[in-house]
Amino acid sequence: MLVDYRVRQREYLLAISRALTAELDLGDVLRIIVQASVEFISARAGVIILADPTEKVFRIAAVYGLSRPQFDDLAPLLQGLAYNDDDIDSELMPELNERMKRIAQAVEMPQLLRLPLMSGDMVIGLIYLFQTEEVRFSRDLANLLQSFADQAAIAVKNARLYQQVSAEKQRLDAILRQSADGVMILDAQLKAAVVNAAFSRLVGWSEEDAVGRPHHELIQWTQRRTEVGLEEALANGWPLPGAAHLYVEGTAQRPDGETISLGITYAPLLNDHGRMTNIIANIRDLTRFREEEQLHKTFISVISHELKTPVSIIKGYAGTLRRRDANWPPEVQDEYLSVIEEESDRLTDLIDNLLEASRLQSGAFKLEMSADVDLIKLATDSARRFGSQTERHRFEVNFPPDFPLIYGDERRLTQVFNNLVSNAIKYSPGGRRIRIWGETEPEWVTISVSDEGIGIPDHEQRRIFQQFSRLDNALSRKTEGSGLGLFLTKAIVEAHGGRIWFASNSPEPGTTFTFSLPAHSDILP
Ligand code: ADP
Repeated sequence: MLVDYRVRQREYLLAISRALTAELDLGDVLRIIVQASVEFISARAGVIILADPTEKVFRIAAVYGLSRPQFDDLAPLLQGLAYNDDDIDSELMPELNERMKRIAQAVEMPQLLRLPLMSGDMVIGLIYLFQTEEVRFSRDLANLLQSFADQAAIAVKNARLYQQVSAEKQRLDAILRQSADGVMILDAQLKAAVVNAAFSRLVGWSEEDAVGRPHHELIQWTQRRTEVGLEEALANGWPLPGAAHLYVEGTAQRPDGETISLGITYAPLLNDHGRMTNIIANIRDLTRFREEEQLHKTFISVISHELKTPVSIIKGYAGTLRRRDANWPPEVQDEYLSVIEEESDRLTDLIDNLLEASRLQSGAFKLEMSADVDLIKLATDSARRFGSQTERHRFEVNFPPDFPLIYGDERRLTQVFNNLVSNAIKYSPGGRRIRIWGETEPEWVTISVSDEGIGIPDHEQRRIFQQFSRLDNALSRKTEGSGLGLFLTKAIVEAHGGRIWFASNSPEPGTTFTFSLPAHSDILP
């Protein structure tokens, strides 16, 4: 009799372990186990109940041998049955046992056999088997059945481990996806295995195109600031045991031809035998940083040049005038003195601009508003002032008759006109027409200043309004300028709640700068 049981037990256990290795879902495996348990001891029905460690409640995990209506009666009886970690011991679960007994009575199978599912010395669930009154339910069977319960416990443990690992993986995936830095994981052959969205944005390779591609195709340095790149470092024996990360910085070319300043930290991933299996590359965009660095350098050279030129002109003319041996006729004296005056004005303008820029940076920039600023007058005054200094340019000022007075800071808006008009003259050395015109919309007024000069490439839209930024063309190198004009102009327009931009006049030569301002005070910022 016992031998027979043993043979059958082995058959069932074999079926269960097959189910366990077939990567079936936990529910499926537990259903096979409960069915095997019921059939093995010729019980009538069985239920596996698991303790849910996160919510501290019991759940029905598998049922066999109960009809649908019987099951529907059973499920609510277990609802809301909570437990403490302290009393989770099969003996100490009187409430659960009580309820199971009640269920057994209700389905007219009052004999109950209970087997704990153990993980170490923790009870993680129970198998309950039901038997009708007529058939004797031998309690000895419990010993034989324990191996079924052990298999069920293993299945539950594996499933929970798997859940944990996949939750962890999802978390890591989310961190990777949402990281603001570019991340690329390379395999041992230096091919990209994983890249995130920030990587694609920075380096210009879509995930689809990047994965599987070798590192040297994805990161193409045009100029490196650090001594060695990844490939050379590997050839030199990186990573040394216990070695630190490798940092490489420089300018790289994107597939769309643009260049970008990058700083990449490479971290090796080693297996237990110390062999490198992967490299994790963390990629930072240093473009802004480099631009700022460049700006600071430019600042020093531009400002020292811009300050020195008028000072040496003033000194030169003053020294000449002071010479006792020369007897300058009054018109020469007058001319020299007016040069000194102009250069002093230029110095004052530059110092004003510098002060204004530093006020902007310190947040102490405040507009002095008045309600009746006449932009037509500002435009005409500016055209007159600068028109008198050039013979090559012809000014046209056009405003519609209904152009409104606006609410603004007159002194600062004068500065806007002066900057745009003086640039228009400076950057159209061949002369020709400079037009200033206004347009009105219900909420906005716009003013444009257009020249027929050397023009600006459209892609300089962002850079040109930055402080100390001057385009690298022959004319910028020849003309004086601090690169502050447009920076301040933009700041003033934006402080009024407006916008400024430029458009190339192509195919005609030259550029048109346009700024908008709110037409009424109620839409001011
Ligand atoms: P700057 O003192 O150099 O004129 P701005 O900030 O006024 O400084 O202008 C920045 C740069 O933008 C200039 O150096 C010049 O290269 C370019 N720029 C400005 N206005 C024009 C224009 N109307 N046509 C062509 N280039 C211009």
